[in-house]
Amino acid sequence: MALIVQKFGGTSVGDVDRIKAVAARVARTHAEGHQVVVVVSAMSGETDRLLGLARAFDANPRGRELDVILSTGEQVTIGLLCMALQSIGAGAMSFTGGQVRILTDSAYNKARIEDIDQHRVRAALDAGNVVVVAGFQGVDADGNITTLGRGGSDTTAVALAAALQADECQIYTDVDGVYTTDPRIVPEARRLDRITYEEMLEMASLGAKVLQIRSVEFASKYQVNLRVLSSFGEGGGTLITTEDNIMEQALISGVTLNRDEAQLTVTGVPDRPGIASGLLGPVADANIEVDMIVQNTGADGATDFTFTVHRNDYERTLDILRDVAPAMGARSIEGDRKIVKVSIVGVGMRSHAGIASRMFRALAAEGVNIRMISTSEIKISVVVDEKYGELAVRTLHDEFELENGAVSA
Ligand code: ADP
Ligand code: ASP
Ligand code: MG
Repeated sequence: MALIVQKFGGTSVGDVDRIKAVAARVARTHAEGHQVVVVVSAMSGETDRLLGLARAFDANPRGRELDVILSTGEQVTIGLLCMALQSIGAGAMSFTGGQVRILTDSAYNKARIEDIDQHRVRAALDAGNVVVVAGFQGVDADGNITTLGRGGSDTTAVALAAALQADECQIYTDVDGVYTTDPRIVPEARRLDRITYEEMLEMASLGAKVLQIRSVEFASKYQVNLRVLSSFGEGGGTLITTEDNIMEQALISGVTLNRDEAQLTVTGVPDRPGIASGLLGPVADANIEVDMIVQNTGADGATDFTFTVHRNDYERTLDILRDVAPAMGARSIEGDRKIVKVSIVGVGMRSHAGIASRMFRALAAEGVNIRMISTSEIKISVVVDEKYGELAVRTLHDEFELENGAVSA
């Protein structure tokens, strides 16, 4: 008998028929003699609908009351799925995050899980039930409802799997695994049988929304056997695992596109100590995360300073720069929301020189202008104009022959 955590995303529970299909799949695993904990998302579109309602009162809703509203989406699904399971003879019991006691910090709208109380879940499992837990939500030390950020049900599932020391955490979604790139952009994208935690973490961080970043962090930290599979078909999906478990390592594993960033540039600041901290300190103080940074000093000694932030933070960042940059002698403050970040990811890069130049050559041949570059040991990212984003993804997918399978490192 194994303990298995199965998570079903929004599309997979999008209507009553799909919930019935999920119930049938869960009941099958349960009937095989396994203990099953199910984590579900809100029905597809529901979280956006709830956000829309909140916007009637606040253009930029955030904070405690938003989480009270958003958490209702998942609460509906757990009740429906339990009814569906009971209707086909499987014992089932639903739990909200607060009922389990998924303890989080108090950072509303993007809370982090700190601890999971196993008692009620274990008791319900031992009584023979399928346990159905609402994803995306928790409760802070004072009993306030919190949510974990968009896509957070993945993290609920992996955190539960880690806490319960589950044998496997299965993420069922509308694709049958992790692909070399988003199959909606490149139909020839190929499903990966296996990918390392490290690569998956980079891909999630760089825009592949198939798994929430934090769920991969948890999986890696607690070595959870994590698998992404289709809720509509059969098949083994993609196993996210350690590098030791991957026999043939590709040069590049994937290409990602992140449409969520915006670029800001401060020109003509003097080349002296304290400029970077003077500009970015106030941005950090406002809890705005800065991603790429490029600083460049011209022959005349004046420095241009460019960086990217999340698009949602663009206006606020611009306001902060308008406050602080003039006093530092800046010539101008410029901004551009219409940029995207395209990245290639692969642990194979570690042992291979020349990947960056091959990437830049391929983009140049398609007339794609690169505006910023950043690299780490296993990824290279470029910022390009939004209109070139998908072309750049297709070009790199072709260049590194990702549709054909492993070009070994
Ligand atoms: P769920 O609602 O089940 O959580 P998501 O929409 O969050 O599903 O994630 C699945 C989607 O992620 C897919 O439909 C796909 O378009 C997108 N996606 C982006 N990059 C990738 C990738 N590299 N591999 C697979 N899917 C990807
Ligand atoms: N319902 C939440 C969202 O839409 C959480 C999730 O689906 O994982 O972001
Ligand atoms: Mg998701």
